[in-house]
Amino acid sequence: MPSAFATKPAAVLLASALVAGGVGLAQGTAPPDSPSVTVRGKTFTPRSILARNMGTDEDQTTAFPPHRVVGNIYYVGTRTLSAYLITTPAGHILLNSTYERNVRTIAASVAQLGFAFTDVKILLGTHAHGDHQEGDALVKQLTGAQVMAMAEDVPALQNMKPGGKAHPIDRVLHDGDTVSLGGITLVAHLTPGHTRGCTTWTLKVSDGGRTYDVVIIGSLGVNPGFQLVNNKDVPQIADEYARAFKMSRALPCDIPLGSHPGMYNMAEKYPKVGKGGPNPYIDPAGYKAELDLDEAMYHAVLDAQTRAAGR
Ligand SMILES: [Zn+2]
Repeated sequence: MPSAFATKPAAVLLASALVAGGVGLAQGTAPPDSPSVTVRGKTFTPRSILARNMGTDEDQTTAFPPHRVVGNIYYVGTRTLSAYLITTPAGHILLNSTYERNVRTIAASVAQLGFAFTDVKILLGTHAHGDHQEGDALVKQLTGAQVMAMAEDVPALQNMKPGGKAHPIDRVLHDGDTVSLGGITLVAHLTPGHTRGCTTWTLKVSDGGRTYDVVIIGSLGVNPGFQLVNNKDVPQIADEYARAFKMSRALPCDIPLGSHPGMYNMAEKYPKVGKGGPNPYIDPAGYKAELDLDEAMYHAVLDAQTRAAGR
């Protein structure tokens, strides 16, 4: 979602969201922020989930303290836009460049951890929205990294041209493909809906003599105004989401991460890092809770839009 969504007045925000969702309602006829769902005692709406994920413009561009999450996975993103560095003896993998204006901030976070940004050999992404992958061309320019993307997201990525720069794509991935470097292997899982090629990444990491299943959630969110029913561009979009939930629930997960830190409560977990207890990022229940929230919202939106279409 563009950064403007988090800070503009509600009417403007919704009008933009509706256009983006293909609804095409005139300004001023924006519906209320509904439906709402209550999951584990907390109530959410489409806009409250978006606000949780995006924060303010400042949150999107301010570096979060870079830190080790587990094993060789490091957080190098901003307060609300995730970027992960996965280090290996053969160079590094960067997952998500975020907005182009954040790339130098991410590079500085990598340097702060003692790694060289120019050692990034592979650039991956979670999905073809600007807040996650707009900076890909600049990362490639600065590092020479190979950029790899899920086939179903390639058309949307090719439309992402900050400053007119073509979007680099060196390898096209398909569901279940693996990406390996320096003894580390990530698996790309197609979890479509949020974008056609939205990708959930899994990998195993070793830490303290144990092995952990890590899941990096691409996104399972239904943005405000998004049409699950009578979607002009992708008539079967609701079925694609359903497939993504099924895929996601089948993945073993000890440590959930995501394209936005809000998806796994980073702000609550980070203060516990290095305080002597268990790694706070180990949270299989948190993974299920995020899936439950996203799936509840998906069903609520689908039901509401199905009822509206039947009138
Ligand atoms: Zn997105």
